[in-house]
This record gives sequence, C-alpha cells and structure tokens, in this order.
Amino acid sequence: MTKNNHGSKLTRKILIGMFFGILLGSLINAFALDGVVETFFTGGVIEVGARIFLSSLKLLVVPMVFVSLVAGAGSLNDIKKLGRLGSKTFGLYILTTALAISIALVIAILVNPGQGFVMSAPSSFEAKPAPPLVDVIANIFPSNPFESMVRGEMLQIIVFALLFGIGLTLSGDAGKRILSIFNDLNEIIMKMVMLLIELAPYGVFCLLTKVFASQGFSAILPMAKYFFVVLIILILHATVVYGSMLKLMAGLNPITFFKKFSEVMVFAFSTSSSNATLPVTMEVSEKRLGIHNAVVSFTIPLGATINMDGTAIMQGVATVFVAQVYGIHLGMQDYVMVVLTATLASIGTAGVPGVGLVMLAMVFNQVGLPVEGIGLIIGVDRLLDMTRTAVNVTGDAVVSCIVAKSENQFDLQTYNS
Ligand code: ASP
Repeated sequence: MTKNNHGSKLTRKILIGMFFGILLGSLINAFALDGVVETFFTGGVIEVGARIFLSSLKLLVVPMVFVSLVAGAGSLNDIKKLGRLGSKTFGLYILTTALAISIALVIAILVNPGQGFVMSAPSSFEAKPAPPLVDVIANIFPSNPFESMVRGEMLQIIVFALLFGIGLTLSGDAGKRILSIFNDLNEIIMKMVMLLIELAPYGVFCLLTKVFASQGFSAILPMAKYFFVVLIILILHATVVYGSMLKLMAGLNPITFFKKFSEVMVFAFSTSSSNATLPVTMEVSEKRLGIHNAVVSFTIPLGATINMDGTAIMQGVATVFVAQVYGIHLGMQDYVMVVLTATLASIGTAGVPGVGLVMLAMVFNQVGLPVEGIGLIIGVDRLLDMTRTAVNVTGDAVVSCIVAKSENQFDLQTYNS
C-alpha cells in the first residue's frame, strides 16, 4: 500500500471513530443510560481508553518540543535568521488573533446574539485574578529549565531550547556532534507520534463517547443563537480567512491543506487542547505539509501557546452577548479595549481545555462587564471549546506554512503529494 493511500485510509478511520463516538455518547446521554453502562462502559472501558490516549499524547509534548526545537535552531545555523523567523511568526500570530476577534465583534454586533435572551437563573462564575503583565513577560525566561519542563510551561521551554540551540550552533565540532544526537532523537519521537496516530480512531472514539455521554445537546437550546453565531464565525474564519491567507500569502492550494490537516483538527476537537495536540500538529506539519523542521519546531509550539484565534472569536461574541443580556452599552473605545485585551491575554496562557473562559474574565474586567455573566455561557462552552481548539491549531499551521514559504523552508512537493 502506498503511503498516501494509507494516510487517507487512516483519516477515514479517524473520522469514523469520531462519528461513532459522538453518536454513541449522545445516545447514552439522551436515554440517560447509567447503572451498568456507567459503571462498566462510560466510566470503565471508555474512561480507561480515553485517559491512556490523552496521557500518551501529553507525555510526548515536552520531549518533542525541546528536542525538535534544539534540532531546528541548530540546523538553522544563523541567529539572524532565527530573529527574522521569530518576528514574522509573532507578527502574524498577533495579526490573525486581532483579525479574528474584530470579525467576531462586527458580526456579533450585527446579529445581536443576546437580544431576547431570558435569564432563567442567576448565573455565577468565579474569576481567577489575572497575573500582572510584568510577571508574564519576565517569567518567560525560566530560572530553572527543569522545573519548567516538569510543569510543562511551553514559553519557558521554548526559550531554553532556543538558547541551547544557539549555544550548540556556536560550539563548532562539539555542537555538530550533539546536533546529530538531537536529530536522531527527533526522528525517534516522530516515530512515536506516528504510532499514536495509528491508534487515533480508537482514542478519538473513547474521548468523544465520554464527552458526549456527559454533554447533552439540550444545553444548547436556550443558548442556540449564541452557540451558532460562534460556530458559524469559527467555520468562516477557518475556511475563508485561512483559505485566503494560504492562497494570497503563500500561493498554496487551501483544499490540499485542509485534506491533509483534517486529522489534526479531529485530534484538537477530541482533546480540546492545543497543547495535547502539539505532537500531532508538528508531525503532520513537517511530514505531510512539507514545512521544514527549523520552522515547525519554533512556530507550532509557540502558536499552541500564544495563538488562539478560535478562542478570540468566542470572546468577541461572548462580550457582545453578555453586554446585551445585561443591557450594558459598549462604545467604540470599549471594543478596541476588548481586541487589545483578548489578544494580549492569549499570550502566556497555555492551550488547555477551558482556558478561554479564564481569559474572558480578564476581558470582562477590563471593560467593566459583570464577570458572573460567564456563568451564562458555561453550559455550552465544552462543545465550543472543542470546535475553537480545532480552529486554534489550524491557525498555527497556516502561519507556519506562510513563514516557511517566505523563508524558503518549505517543500512544495511534499505539500502537493
Ligand atoms: N482549549 C483551547 C485550546 O487549547 C483554549 C480555549 O479556548 O479554552 O486551544
């Protein structure tokens, strides 16, 4: 069997796993099947499968980011290039996030998702205090890299790996010897990711059965307008904005991109975590989209941490929604503040399930909206979290393609194969 054939067969299997997971979970929820089903199935076999799959993904994240980034920085062999790559990536990430939230605000203001919404019960949501910006910036430089690795702090690991990679580049023969070890390690970890992807149909099935068994669709009904506005903007952003960016800024065929990348989107959807999806995003970006390791190893982990366009979209709609429900008028200045805060809040907040709501609290505080308003949207947030995480990881790969193409670190043949 050719590699391509195998790839599309696997994608199909993963989609089938997704479909049956959603179907079975929803049925279990709809018929309120508990007792034996809960003890032995959803709380038993499925729970074990879901947890093992998720842990196997997560266990690869830190070693993969570190090893791959050292190998990438070492192979670039040029600190100036690294700086250019960094500023382009950072600029595009900020730009796409600001664009995402602006689109969301404009559409939400036109559609009025909060109009006619009747609050049935007082909502509640406790906000965690936002860390001061000075701490966020200063803490990006770790004082103990091993502690950062133990805690899985992505930005800190990135900084240490970059510094290590630069040191390695400047170390002549010693550097070359260590670089070859890191290249080998990188290959081995990539193989581990590939093995895990082979198991994805079953893992995705378990994860989705579990989520949908506990999450019925009934929560959506009273929130339907908010839910569908967010969903439609997410889909529009992923297809129209990313599609045009790929075409116009990198000259790439967007359909090819989505065909190859859909697998990663399913991972993101099932795990609700850009971080846990990282190994798969990196593997597919390098091996199937043709982005060179030097770019993938830097842009993708950075993106999983600071670039959350899908999250920004939810925040834009949520702001307009809550303001309307509470009858609070927001002016142009407030909206600009929302764009700024939401964009900045996403930096330094790791891509894990539900973090978007924590960031939303910061946005609400900034423009004087009641933070307990978040309690209104919590019920439908799990499903939206899944969808926006898929958009978040797509944004990372799109920017990565554009940067790689502009830096001549892109293999067009692999992309088109
Ligand atoms: N779950 C999202 C992610 O990992 C973040 C969020 O919006 O909560 O990208």
